[in-house]
Amino acid sequence: MPEAKSDILIRVENLQKYFPIKLGFMNVQYVRAVEGATFVIKKGETLGLVGESGCGKTTLGRTILRLYEPTKGKIFYEEKDITNVNMLPYRRKMQIIFQDPSASLDPRMTVGEIVGEAIDIHKLSSNGKERQERIKELLAQVGLNTEHANRYPHEFSGGQQQRIGIARALAVKPEFIVCDEPISALDVSIQSQIVNMLEDMQEQIGLTYLFIAHDLSVVRHISNRIGVMYLGVIVEMASSTELYKNPLHPYTNTLLSAVPVPDPVVSRSRNRIILEGEIPSPMNPPSGCRFHTRCPYVTERCKQEEPAFREVAPEHFVACHLV
Ligand code: SF4
Repeated sequence: MPEAKSDILIRVENLQKYFPIKLGFMNVQYVRAVEGATFVIKKGETLGLVGESGCGKTTLGRTILRLYEPTKGKIFYEEKDITNVNMLPYRRKMQIIFQDPSASLDPRMTVGEIVGEAIDIHKLSSNGKERQERIKELLAQVGLNTEHANRYPHEFSGGQQQRIGIARALAVKPEFIVCDEPISALDVSIQSQIVNMLEDMQEQIGLTYLFIAHDLSVVRHISNRIGVMYLGVIVEMASSTELYKNPLHPYTNTLLSAVPVPDPVVSRSRNRIILEGEIPSPMNPPSGCRFHTRCPYVTERCKQEEPAFREVAPEHFVACHLV
């Protein structure tokens, strides 16, 4: 069944992002960070995006927000083409939470100023009292105290700094948030608190997330659907349940084999798949299927012909000649 258009918040079509690298006089090469991404994100859902470091997932998230300009392809927000428009009206609706909270907060500003700045830029309060009330409300929403408004970021733990980053994102009443590895810089003990908080916010405000992570165990519980990315290309996408039950791409199987299992008996009986070789350079990706240099099932066809990203079961997409 085709998707009802009103269900879709974000649509990307054949999105591509290359970064030029100058290697000398008249010698420019390109890092092909994202190649031909086509997918939708439905209103109110969380789409998880996983893959090794450097696979292009952060670039894809930032390109959707137009923090990076796309090289090719199209981005739609509620079916409006925003690929080339002035983003000012969309900046409020589309926010980002960064991986490293300490680096993303200005150390010279108090927490109140950081959160208040977002309110001011988008003129979301009519007077000082309303602004103060809104800052208090936001801090409470992310589990911080009102007194925290007068303190500086360095006075907080990593988890609290990430809460400040979330309060700043929420200050402008967004609809869509790119969560760019929001817990990978945090202690394991705090990670689940932040994930739970993001889930609560989603339920209360009806947010839509693109949740980026480098391993599948993190995205499993928060995501309705998951996309798997390898060397700039989305190789598989399905509902979270389907992806875990019926992974089809050899690379997804590799990532799944690395997910820790709490049951020691199951864990012992499981075969961890170790990929041979290094991830190739995105400046010079392999021909045909980009995974062919590391795939255990590679054939001659894989080396020459790029597999199409096809829907092989309802809402289950995969790019592999063997499937
Ligand atoms: Fe492996 Fe070929 Fe499938 Fe690529 S297309 S994942 S190389 S089997």
